[in-house]
Amino acid sequence: MNIGRAVDAIRKKFGNGALILLYHRIAHLERDPQLLAVTPERFDEHLEILRRKANVMPLKELVQKRDSGLPPRSVAITIDDGYADNLLFAKPLLERHESPATVFVTSGFVGVDREFWWDELDRILLNHQDAGWNVASGNDDEPRHAEYRSLHATLRSSTEPQRLQALHDLQVRTNSGSSARATHRALTPDQLRELAEGGLVEVGAHTVTHPVLASLSPASQHQEIDTSKRKLEEWLGQTVHSFAYPYGGKRDYDKHSVEAVRNLGFSLACSNFRGMAWPNTNRLELPRALIRNWGGEEFERMLDAEFA
Ligand SMILES: [Zn+2]
Repeated sequence: MNIGRAVDAIRKKFGNGALILLYHRIAHLERDPQLLAVTPERFDEHLEILRRKANVMPLKELVQKRDSGLPPRSVAITIDDGYADNLLFAKPLLERHESPATVFVTSGFVGVDREFWWDELDRILLNHQDAGWNVASGNDDEPRHAEYRSLHATLRSSTEPQRLQALHDLQVRTNSGSSARATHRALTPDQLRELAEGGLVEVGAHTVTHPVLASLSPASQHQEIDTSKRKLEEWLGQTVHSFAYPYGGKRDYDKHSVEAVRNLGFSLACSNFRGMAWPNTNRLELPRALIRNWGGEEFERMLDAEFA
């Protein structure tokens, strides 16, 4: 047992911690090299289990109640990036189970005929023979698997202009065009409004271009976060209170990112490292549990282990 888990175990004796789940896509994909998608059938199963075994509440409420005392097994659902499938497949299931969720939207991709850079790599480099391959599978049987891995690492740490140039070169050299696949589109402004309609789904900000914030100057970070907030507010006609750091690992953002989020008036912000939310957990660096395309049994096991 590591120190973090040992400390959590002690804390549990004094009160309830909460779990924030992190999803990305609810979809059937031909291939999923980054393991981002949960199928609608399995998401349905997860929500059914949550209804039986947890107290699902809006993220905002979970953070507010952190200090005054949470019910046991408190859970909030979050979905990152802003894919159209969040409206098409996730929302109907959230409605069926009356489960609130927060969707963090990358504003620069809304209504644009362009895929996220990691999907572009998938579209251009991989093909139908790669249905079973992903970055966790370890064996790169084909040269294109190693190429995908290597370019992925390069582009993740590139600046936005470098990344766009590299993708453009790749499109030209492989004659792949630049149009987004229907299955990999982000939300349009109309879909964004439809997603937020009814109040079950809250929309949060996730920057404009999905950069590694820590690699940017404090001023550029502020601008990425500020612009995404204002753009979403303009589309939605309501204030955006929540934020999620792109990639969200401890090295992907820094103190300037947290400062910008605080100065811009966000009431909470999510990271992407594992842990529970406790009364004294920083509301601007909330840990989350990354959820994969697990069957019901495995999902339930994870839930029981977190709350054990
Ligand atoms: Zn993201």
